[in-house]
Amino acid sequence: MIVVMRTGANPAEIDEVRRTIEQAGLEAFLSEGQERTVIGVVGSDVDRVAHVASYPGVEQVIRVTKAYKLASLEHHPDRTRVRIGDALIGSGGDVVVIAGPCAVESREQILATARWVKREGATVLRGGSFKPRTSPYAFQGLGEAALELLAEARAETGLPVVSEVVDPGDVPLFEQYVDMLQVGSRNMANFALLRAVGQSRKPVLLKRGFGATIEEWLMAAEYVLSSGNSNVVLCERGIRTFETATRNTLDVTAVPVLRERTHLPVMIDPSHGTGHRPLVRPMALAGAAAGADGIIIEVHPDPPRARSDSEQSLSFPEFGDLMDDLRRLEFLRGSSVAAEVPASVPDGIDELRSQIDDVDDRLAALIQERARLAMQVQRARGPKTHGHDVARERELVARATSGEAGALTSDELTQVFGAIVRASRSAQRRQAASEAVPAEPEAAAP
Ligand code: PEP
Ligand code: MN
Repeated sequence: MIVVMRTGANPAEIDEVRRTIEQAGLEAFLSEGQERTVIGVVGSDVDRVAHVASYPGVEQVIRVTKAYKLASLEHHPDRTRVRIGDALIGSGGDVVVIAGPCAVESREQILATARWVKREGATVLRGGSFKPRTSPYAFQGLGEAALELLAEARAETGLPVVSEVVDPGDVPLFEQYVDMLQVGSRNMANFALLRAVGQSRKPVLLKRGFGATIEEWLMAAEYVLSSGNSNVVLCERGIRTFETATRNTLDVTAVPVLRERTHLPVMIDPSHGTGHRPLVRPMALAGAAAGADGIIIEVHPDPPRARSDSEQSLSFPEFGDLMDDLRRLEFLRGSSVAAEVPASVPDGIDELRSQIDDVDDRLAALIQERARLAMQVQRARGPKTHGHDVARERELVARATSGEAGALTSDELTQVFGAIVRASRSAQRRQAASEAVPAEPEAAAP
C-alpha cells in the first residue's frame, strides 16, 4: 500500500502517519520528493491502516495488491476444478453444460426436461425452487416441493442438480436435496447468504450481480472462500447497461478478464444474459469460444407456456441444435462434449451407417457437379454479367419441396437448397472475379 501525502503536508502530519503504520506492526518507507512525500507500507494485512486516508495531510491511499486474496490467481496459481457429480468444471477440457427450466413447475415438466437434456449431453440439471422475482405477484416457485422433484429427477437420470437458495436459513434444507447451491444475481452482495453458503460443503455457483463490477464479484467470492468453502464457480449472466434491445448485456469479456485474475472456474449464462430465445445459441457459442468452462441454459418442454422466463427458454429441439453447434466448436478446440455414447452398437446400425456414407459420397459428387455446371454458365455469360437469378432459385426450392413429404420438412429442405445455391454462387463469383482481373499493363513508354 502507498500513502501519498498532499503537497505542503507538514512534518507533524507525516510523522503521525508513520507512527500509525509502525504501531500496527508494519514498516513505513518514506520517500521525500521535491513536492510531496510518499510512504510505502509493507507487512501483512496492510488494510489495517487504510484509515490513514482520512488523516490530515494525506491525499490518497493506493492499494498495490488486490483486495481479494483467496480468489486471486496471484495467491493461488493452480486453477481450481469444481466437481459436481460426473462434471468437472474448470478442467480446461470439455465445456460443462448445465441445463433445465428456469423454475421447476411439475413432475412431468422436470422429468421430461431432465431426460432430454441428459440425452443431448448436459451433465448437470438446473431448476429454480424459490424464485427471486422482481414482482411479488409473479410465480415464486414451488419451494421445497421443487427440491423434492429435482431430487427425483436426479435419482432417475443420475444428473446432479443445482438450484438457487435465497435465504441463509434455507441452506441446510437445500443441502438435503441439491448438489450445488446457486447464489443469484440479486443476492450477490447478500453477505449473510454468502457466509452461509461458505459454511456449506456443497459447491457454489455464484452469479454476477447485474450492477456489480468484476472486482465486487470477486470480493463476493472472497466471502464464500474465506468462510471455508473453496468450491466456487463464477457465472457471468449479463449486466445492466443503457442498451434496451436485450434483457441484459452479456459481458463475454468477463471470461478472459477473470482468467487473468482468478483461479476459479467461469461459466456463461446466455439465457439471462440476453433474455431472448434466438440470441441464446450464438451467445452460448461466444462464451465457449471465449474460453468459458461451462454454460448454463434454460430449457422448457413448452417455452411459451413457461411460468417464468418463457422468452429466453429454449425448446427441446433448439437445445439439441445448440448442443450440436457446441460439439462442432469443441471438435475445433480439440476436445468433445460428452454425449451419451451407447456402450455397444445395436445390430444393423453399422450397415445403415455404411449406406449413409454411400449417400454422402454421391451427394458430395452431385453438389460438385452442380457447381461445375454453374461455373460453365458463368463462363458463358462472361465476367460483366454475373447475377443472381432469384426466380430460378425460387423455382428450384419450390420443385424440391413440392414432392412427397419425406423425413425433412419443407423448411429444412429449403435450408439445404439455400446452402447449395449459396455455395454455387460463391464459386461463380470466384470465377467472374478471376476473369475480370485486368491483364498486366504493358510497360509504359518512358
Ligand atoms: C436463474 O438462474 O434462474 C436466475 C434467477 O438467474 P439470475 O440470478 O442470474 O437472474
Ligand atoms: Mn430464469
